[in-house]
Amino acid sequence: MAKDFYQILGVPKTASKDEIKRAYRRLAHEYHPDKGGGEAQKFKEVNEAYEALSDDAKRAQYDRFGQTFDQAGQGSGFGGFTGDFSQGFDFGGFSAGNGSTFSADFSDIFSDIFGGGRKTRKPQGIDLEMNLDIEFLESVTGLEKKINLEKKDACQHCKGQGAEPGTEVITCPKCHGQGQIITHRRTILGNMQSAQTCDRCDGTGKIPEKPCRECVGAGIKRQTKTITINIPAGIDSGQRIRLTGEGEMGYRGTKPGDLYIQIRVKAHPEFIRDGFDIRSEIPISFYGATLGGETEVATVDGPVMLKIPAGIQSGKILRLAGKGVPHLDHKTRRGDHLVTVRIVTPQKLTKKEKELLKTLAEESGETVNVNKSFWGKIKDSF
Ligand SMILES: [Zn+2]
Ligand SMILES: [Zn+2]
Repeated sequence: MAKDFYQILGVPKTASKDEIKRAYRRLAHEYHPDKGGGEAQKFKEVNEAYEALSDDAKRAQYDRFGQTFDQAGQGSGFGGFTGDFSQGFDFGGFSAGNGSTFSADFSDIFSDIFGGGRKTRKPQGIDLEMNLDIEFLESVTGLEKKINLEKKDACQHCKGQGAEPGTEVITCPKCHGQGQIITHRRTILGNMQSAQTCDRCDGTGKIPEKPCRECVGAGIKRQTKTITINIPAGIDSGQRIRLTGEGEMGYRGTKPGDLYIQIRVKAHPEFIRDGFDIRSEIPISFYGATLGGETEVATVDGPVMLKIPAGIQSGKILRLAGKGVPHLDHKTRRGDHLVTVRIVTPQKLTKKEKELLKTLAEESGETVNVNKSFWGKIKDSF
């Protein structure tokens, strides 16, 4: 609580040197601790006030910068900073604006931003960061997504200025628009000077003539805002989208923070992203692989017919050019879709199929004892 030296001496700010001196003598006499009914604390205050106001230079300094604090205020006035966010979104962490993301433990954030609970207020709005899960196909095509975000936004009643409509925002009389109070004190090490955030205007240098009745002069109110996010085609997991000015609104119309959307692409049952290419697998029957032909393959553009060359081996990769993920910078350039062929060996054979396969094997020079010939062939190939 700031001390008002004029109030302590019971004189107006315009008081002459004589008036100050008379007031001091009267009060010093009244509170002198040696006297019955004296009050040491008040006596000390009166002396402190007189010391500051009796000297022209000190008085001018006091009038300009206000009262000196002997210690940093213990205030915890982080009014309005709360940690609850809208349901339905996973806020994985907050960014302090320098790229470092830390977990949403609000006591940590306060000590980071406010320097361990000192009474300083950051007028600018803080950046927000949230995770947004999108489908694989959405990441390929891009999309416009609307989200409802509960955050501190500009108070609609006062348009974020903190002043009741029709009234002015004026320069703070305490700090004269500086936003901070320079304090001087004498110590055994000499004169110490320190700056402290002005408690009257919370460091903004301005105060509303008449505080807005909706936001009590802060200019910000917690509210839900619908935000449209344009997610570009080709975005990948871990990439961030910045929405400038969509973070929390600044105190009394000061700069708002930014909103960072961290994209997380959900896994797809068939497609795997590999740079700008997409990989998938197709099963081909033993007969299809041997004889060749065409088969339908799912791509992000829908099904396409893929030509299977006769005699294809399992693990062979077939390329569908231009069916991959669009490059973020070139809307027309796309990666490829790479299809890995997996040949499915027939398992449940009918008696007739078995007979036919034996005949086929004999025709190609294999003996009917499959196991033996298989190992024999392996040996031959080394
Ligand atoms: Zn308001
Ligand atoms: Zn001020």
